[in-house]
Amino acid sequence: MNTHQANIRVVDLSSYLPPRTQLNNIAPIGQESFLVESLTSYIARLANSHCLPVGVLMQTEIAPIVDKVHGGANLHKIYNHTSALNSTGVMAFNLVQALEKLSGQKNLDLLTLSRWSNLLPQRNLLRRHRAWCPACYQEWYSTGQVVYERLLWFLEVVKVCPLHRCLLRETCPCCRQKNLCLAWHARPGYCSKCQEWLGLVFNSSFEELENLSQDDLETLVWISESVEDLLAYTSCLAVPLTKKDIAQAFTVHIDTVSNGNIAAFARQLQLPRNTVWLWCNGKNLPQLETLVQICYRLNRSLVDFITQAPEQNIYVTAEKVPAVLQSRPKAEARVINTDWLERELEVIFLKHDCPPQSMEEVARQLDIHRETIFRLFPEICRAISRKYDRFQKVCHQQAIEQSLEEVKQTVLELYNAGLYPSEGRVAQMMSRPGYLRYKQVRAAIAEAKLALSTRDQDLGSK
Ligand SMILES: [Zn+2]
Ligand SMILES: [Zn+2]
Repeated sequence: MNTHQANIRVVDLSSYLPPRTQLNNIAPIGQESFLVESLTSYIARLANSHCLPVGVLMQTEIAPIVDKVHGGANLHKIYNHTSALNSTGVMAFNLVQALEKLSGQKNLDLLTLSRWSNLLPQRNLLRRHRAWCPACYQEWYSTGQVVYERLLWFLEVVKVCPLHRCLLRETCPCCRQKNLCLAWHARPGYCSKCQEWLGLVFNSSFEELENLSQDDLETLVWISESVEDLLAYTSCLAVPLTKKDIAQAFTVHIDTVSNGNIAAFARQLQLPRNTVWLWCNGKNLPQLETLVQICYRLNRSLVDFITQAPEQNIYVTAEKVPAVLQSRPKAEARVINTDWLERELEVIFLKHDCPPQSMEEVARQLDIHRETIFRLFPEICRAISRKYDRFQKVCHQQAIEQSLEEVKQTVLELYNAGLYPSEGRVAQMMSRPGYLRYKQVRAAIAEAKLALSTRDQDLGSK
């Protein structure tokens, strides 16, 4: 050993390093604040940090340790239900547990709505598709900040970005498709279908904003801010709010607004009396959308309402629910780019897909009501349907012919095995037993039986 080697001291580095985790230990953004990131965004960033598609990360790392009873982590299986990953239920809970184990991060439940699980029903709570503020994306990108997806954007009642006062987007300006909340190739800031940047793209149409009056915009901003406050407030509570808090809040407000008279309160707010009674008694919970409407009309923020913050004068300030708060009719009133639609339909018609798409599938893919497409382009719709029908007919004919052949073989097999070829026995052995409902298939059994007995008679007589 030379002197140089003798001077080297072996230092145990493990005590200086944070504990090793299976996945990168990246921190979620905005935990315990109104800017909090969604769980689906965190998963996408985690996958990106490992240079893996989200689907692969989910399948190889997360799925093995997630309870599969409630959907698991296979994106192909939970496909249409990925919004539940940010929600209040067991799917989100399981995923949080798995991710905390793998990434070493704590309190990842704050990236979901799990703290609202006893406060608000799941129904209509979250959007089915991903939504985003293009201005937020652009701002983060150009100032070198991490691009992510706010949990706030996934809430169905939140229609505008409270920071930029613009409508949230759900359709990619490039491919015009919607994205699921988490997709195989998800990446915050980019379309998971065409991979284009979703930040401010000035050639995208902002037509919806033109339909929005200043008053409507103010109302929508008020809602976003109110929900944002509730997110931040509930994330800091040691004990989550429950049904009881909502019941208490209603009771206190009814006391103030109408001297405890539930019927009078319900009348003033045009709500069904029985429903209000159920809320007051903790037997039912109002959906977030309804709660927002009530709070708006009482001019109280969600947090003030739920925590029963003292206020001298609480009364119904707005006579009616503003139209912009009466959800959903807006969705159908969306502007359809007919040039684009016609092009898409032509492409679909000319495609040599096997099987060809039905109009129902086309409508789903384009996310436009089938009747709307038909009204705009009846000719091409009929052509697509005819192509589909022709294919179906050919398939049906082939299946019938296969069944006839199968019936013949089956009857022979049963007969050779010394079993009577009854319809029931034949059905059990057929690959498509349902086809026995067709006359010609049933007739084939009789024919095959007859042929066999004739054969036997012939053999016997020889
Ligand atoms: Zn924004
Ligand atoms: Zn796209």
